[in-house]
Amino acid sequence: MYLCDIHSHTSISPDSQAQLPHMVRAALDAGLREFCVTDHCDLLDLDGQLTASFDWAASQRQFHDAQAQFGGRIVLRLGIELGSATAQPETARAILAQGGEELDFVLGSLHNWIGMEGGRDLYYSDYGRDPALARKAVESTLAHTWTLVTQCPDCYDSLAHIVYPLRYIRRDGVEMSLADYEEQVRAIFTQVAAGGRAIELNTCRGHDLDCWPPLLRWFKECGGEMVTLGADAHRPDQVAKGIPEALQMLQAAGFGYVTTYERRRPVLHKL
Ligand SMILES: [Zn+2]
Ligand SMILES: [Zn+2]
Repeated sequence: MYLCDIHSHTSISPDSQAQLPHMVRAALDAGLREFCVTDHCDLLDLDGQLTASFDWAASQRQFHDAQAQFGGRIVLRLGIELGSATAQPETARAILAQGGEELDFVLGSLHNWIGMEGGRDLYYSDYGRDPALARKAVESTLAHTWTLVTQCPDCYDSLAHIVYPLRYIRRDGVEMSLADYEEQVRAIFTQVAAGGRAIELNTCRGHDLDCWPPLLRWFKECGGEMVTLGADAHRPDQVAKGIPEALQMLQAAGFGYVTTYERRRPVLHKL
């Protein structure tokens, strides 16, 4: 099967100190055929402040250096994880345009509260102390994801980690899944599939695989065919974690392909 991990971070992201050559070395050691760097560009930063730029020069420089060093041994792609595009759609579009021809892949994500809780990253809330907040986090994420897929479909190629709030809700000891929100999730997936976009199976460094089988089934039933895989590594030792299992899971769910992106066009690899 085509081993690929197309969600990873380096020191260009505010929450990673990794150097790209070390990440690519780890990708080679894990036997990956393709690896994509997707540094964070959140239109709302960790503290909920509006941000309006991305350091493309640094991103492209490190990418070119890695290509020169490793080219030919692995397919390397340049992506971006664009967060909260719905908070500033025009700015988001301008940033993507600045990425130019070389931009291979846009992961559309939502890490923040929008219009509540100070707009901060969902990471900072304490769901254990207020379980009602957990429901609000999921509902806010799904509402803004709906806005993304219906109003800003040009701002993503693959819908990143739709389960993102559950990472922190579970961290705080509150049990929750997206089962209670099936209708909303299916509506989002139908929109994604109809728009020719993908969803991401995000393994969260190999820690989060169990939540995906029902979501893959829903996506398939909603007409979805394209799924991207990402370990969301922020350090070299996290690269490709859970990817072999994710490929098996995709196959078991009846998908025929795993999808990667080149110059924002999907490339389908037979499973
Ligand atoms: Zn993310
Ligand atoms: Zn990420």
